[in-house]
Amino acid sequence: TSRPDAPLAVVGRDVRVPLVTGGEVEYAALDYAASAPCLQRVWDDVSAYLPYYGSVHRGAGYLSQLSTDLYESSRKTVASYLGARADDVVLFTRGTTDSLNLLAAALPAGTRVFVFETEHHAALLPWRRTAEVTHLPAPGSHAEAVATLDAALAAAPADGPRLVCVTGASNVTGELFPVRELAATAHRHGARIVLDAAQLAPHHPVSLTGLDVDWVAFSGHKLYAPFGAGVLAGRGDWLADAEPYLAGGGASKSVTADAVEWNTGSARHEAGSPNVIGAYAIASACRALTEAGLDALAAREDALLARLRAGLADIPEVRTLDLFGPGAARVSVVSFVVEGWNSSRFAAALSAEYGIGVRDGLFCAHPLVRRLLGGRDDAPTECGAPDAPAGEQNLNAIRVSFGAGTPEEHLDRFVGAVRELVRRGAKWTYRTDGGRCVP
Ligand code: PMP
Repeated sequence: TSRPDAPLAVVGRDVRVPLVTGGEVEYAALDYAASAPCLQRVWDDVSAYLPYYGSVHRGAGYLSQLSTDLYESSRKTVASYLGARADDVVLFTRGTTDSLNLLAAALPAGTRVFVFETEHHAALLPWRRTAEVTHLPAPGSHAEAVATLDAALAAAPADGPRLVCVTGASNVTGELFPVRELAATAHRHGARIVLDAAQLAPHHPVSLTGLDVDWVAFSGHKLYAPFGAGVLAGRGDWLADAEPYLAGGGASKSVTADAVEWNTGSARHEAGSPNVIGAYAIASACRALTEAGLDALAAREDALLARLRAGLADIPEVRTLDLFGPGAARVSVVSFVVEGWNSSRFAAALSAEYGIGVRDGLFCAHPLVRRLLGGRDDAPTECGAPDAPAGEQNLNAIRVSFGAGTPEEHLDRFVGAVRELVRRGAKWTYRTDGGRCVP
């Protein structure tokens, strides 16, 4: 049922939204970094399967067997998409947050985790519950990132298990991290490394073997599949030795009133009825991306990103937030602030007056965004509206992000809207609580 002619076409392109100024306009979805639209191919595959789903690993009926086959073959598709080693495990989770929490729960006792403070909270926080954490300061370049990790690993006691957690592409600046070099550094010191590929996977191939990382985590809803499923893939040994992430059916092999024998393999950490539709949607997205070629997608995005950044650079009031500098390699994610503007009001005006959906906030990466805004990770920013009342100063940034299916016109509309808002101000007054507007 798939449309072989358009593997990277997305659904929802024809959604129209009302403008406060009257009329309506085609919605410009420029918040892919939060959640990308679903590929038409994924929609087709999932729709074709919906009438036939049944319980996975639990039923004797035909549809249950079909669903079990589909679930397990989705696991194989993802394993191959991720260049998994023969003995790696692929676990379906609820998303990147869930994947990293699962790994955190499975760490051997006494593990020390090394993590840059630039991470998304999903990669920053789970370890605090189960491990000793060494926070690495925000690096200013790739070389500094590698040197910082190298020094931290050399300085720390090497007597227990050690894990490095690193993001592939920042959800704030879009900048790539030198994953291969960080992995080599970790391994040279006998540490393991997990890659948060939530933002990398939708734009570049992510290979466990190619990058030589021990685990990788990503979310389906950022990879052009709908919500509800994600992946943790990689080494099986720590996972096999750990207590199941959730206790329940599927994870347990044999249960008596006072004892339980836990399952091995992926079942150990996938208690409860699995999300077969989510897993199948991810596998479908992996197939479509493989077929279209992520390199071709990245080349198109790079050209659009250069155009977008040039457009923003032409507006003196706009300051983009970058860690490694404007020349760094990046995915199509740009965060910025506008001089004299509260970011939440600006984002609300983009939505209400232009039908453009971006994100405002601290993007679940508080230490990084605060640092980029104010120079210190606990700083209020200097770029809020000078007359904004206390509490309404600009503690936020604006993020624009895009990917497959984004037409050039949406990005041009966005840059034009930013320029116009800066020049003439908003037509309406926008409240910052939820972006609702009042005349
Ligand atoms: N890591 C990064 C880099 C992200 O951008 C996100 C989502 N914003 C996450 C982790 C968490 O993903 P999810 O919300 O799907 O669990």
